[in-house]
Amino acid sequence: MTELNFRRHRRLRSSKAMRSMVKETYLHKEDLIYPIFVMEGENIKNPVSSMPGVFQFSLDTLNTEVDEVVELGIPAIILFGLPAEKDAVGTGAFHDHGIVQKATRQIKERHPDIIVIADTCLCEFTDHGHCGVVEGEKVLNDASLDLLGRTAVSQAKAGADIIAPSNMMDGFVAAIRVALDEAGFEDVPIMSYAVKYASAYYGPFREAADGAPQFGDRKTYQMDPANRMEAFREAESDIEEGADFLIIKPALSYLDIIRDVRNNYTLPIVAYNVSGEYAMIKAAAQNGWIEEKPVVMETLLGMKRAGADMILTYHAKDVVRWLEEK
Ligand SMILES: [Zn+2]
Repeated sequence: MTELNFRRHRRLRSSKAMRSMVKETYLHKEDLIYPIFVMEGENIKNPVSSMPGVFQFSLDTLNTEVDEVVELGIPAIILFGLPAEKDAVGTGAFHDHGIVQKATRQIKERHPDIIVIADTCLCEFTDHGHCGVVEGEKVLNDASLDLLGRTAVSQAKAGADIIAPSNMMDGFVAAIRVALDEAGFEDVPIMSYAVKYASAYYGPFREAADGAPQFGDRKTYQMDPANRMEAFREAESDIEEGADFLIIKPALSYLDIIRDVRNNYTLPIVAYNVSGEYAMIKAAAQNGWIEEKPVVMETLLGMKRAGADMILTYHAKDVVRWLEEK
């Protein structure tokens, strides 16, 4: 009889202890960044209908939410702001009493140790909903850079620990780095949305942040989902311009890009598990079609396995509870 020759892979899966011994990837609560939406007004805790469990908070209801995040041991939050009024240049983004600046001051006063990341863009603050200054239907690149620099400086002044420019204008990292340095904030790092695709997965976020463009789309500044080499070019230029972290957004449909960037650059990588990815899991779970906890854990583990160091996710609070259950 011919002898069968094969590898017994199941040896290393034979018991829980054995599986645990050879486990390659872990999800830790230290990896998580939790997004919070803040808005002007009083006594507001508005549920975002397409994102169950996510709310918009006014400053007077915000403390309870941040206290909970701190209590859970999530190390960082990222703030998105909804101003009372919008205008053509997005004044609310760079005003010292803008909603993000006020929320940052309030949070840092109450919880000096939590890392507050300020999303730096104009789209939530402009009446046209684009991420930069517009002329007719054109989004102007260089004219937007000055406003982004001003926004970053006002956020740093309010106490933001990290500046996270998301608007995909060319040169935005360079412009923000110069503005921060000139204002004496050379120690404030930049977490750049370096590789950001023009994705349909942002749908629910536009409800949450009230930031849908009023005309056209964002395809002249966000990337084509079909492109891989372009991701290298975007990451490279942000590194040259002085980025300290690289965000890849969205995450789930771009795990190959996370891996590519991981293999080619050494900066910490943040995967942005976006609103549409969250909404799909929530909806299926609410219908009883999938089991929420294992699907969320598997999804986020996949992002870490792909090479992400950190995950920006609306699931963060649930994930910490689940990690502590076992
Ligand atoms: Zn934007």
